[in-house]
Amino acid sequence: MKRRAFLKTASLAGTATLISQKTPAQSPASGPKDSGTPAQGPVIISTWDFGRAVPETAFQTLMKGGTVIDAVERAVMIPEADPEVTTVGYGGYPDRNGKVTLDACIMNGNGDCGAVVFLENIMHPVSVARLVMEKTQHVVLAGEGALQFALENGFKKMNLLTPDAEAAYKEWLKTSDYKPPQASEHNHDTIGLLAMDGKGNMAGACTTSGMAWKIRGRVGDSPLIGAGLYVDNDVGGATATGIGEAVIKVAGSFLIVELMRNGKSPQEACRIALERIVHKQPRYAEKDGFVAGFVAMTKEGQIGAMSYRKGLRYSLCKDGVVSIVDADYMVK
Ligand code: ASP
Repeated sequence: MKRRAFLKTASLAGTATLISQKTPAQSPASGPKDSGTPAQGPVIISTWDFGRAVPETAFQTLMKGGTVIDAVERAVMIPEADPEVTTVGYGGYPDRNGKVTLDACIMNGNGDCGAVVFLENIMHPVSVARLVMEKTQHVVLAGEGALQFALENGFKKMNLLTPDAEAAYKEWLKTSDYKPPQASEHNHDTIGLLAMDGKGNMAGACTTSGMAWKIRGRVGDSPLIGAGLYVDNDVGGATATGIGEAVIKVAGSFLIVELMRNGKSPQEACRIALERIVHKQPRYAEKDGFVAGFVAMTKEGQIGAMSYRKGLRYSLCKDGVVSIVDADYMVK
């Protein structure tokens, strides 16, 4: 079943679903139930459901001796390359000028990080972000400079606008309707992914084509360290999805990590960050289509996930078992 159809079906049914390599005795209720349980091995959590291959790839990378950075990079490269995913990488919906522009970042638990924003024509922005982190003294490269850096480092230029995305764009042009902070079906669903290797080493990656039909040049929260992603091996990590402007305004992922540093559970920290958004900017709460959500993990592998409105799912791999779970939410 396609991811969106699956999401719709799941939310209509109003039930939580666990998809596991080992058939579970019973489906769990929505939301993390194990936030108090330290993990014995690797834990991987990511926003939404981009297929089992995503958490499995991160897990297998760690099992084969890869680093947490290898794990998060390889996992998010899957939706980046998937033409059917209209919110990340190749096949992503374009901006209002019909251009696909990508934002991505990567970070390890020691504070090393790299990002690219407003990058065009490169299928794997997360890998360019990794090179920014590893090969330069900088953190963020933007637009043409990011593209030049990618090409100099062997990345190939390609057209990221698929025929389906172009058709959707042409359809959108008929009305040119664009109303953030409301999300439409197609203008959210970033992948933010956190991995912990079982020894307390963490990393995260976040990659997106951003909001469909955005103003040209718009950059969301996803590539911004502290907004769309933050990781600290002393504490844990967090990553975001939804209307990026809302997340940026509260430095959402950094906020969650700092709340965990001060003793909040990942679940409590996600909730407080969402409350902060609507407390500071009540207009977001007034919008029916307002979407924002976070997933978080401590260095011990305890997890949290919450969205403002019902509908966020997350993918979890713990003890080698993959689950797709409905996140808790604040309002229906
Ligand atoms: N956070 C992303 C952005 O604002 C959208 C998403 O979650 O898909 O660009």
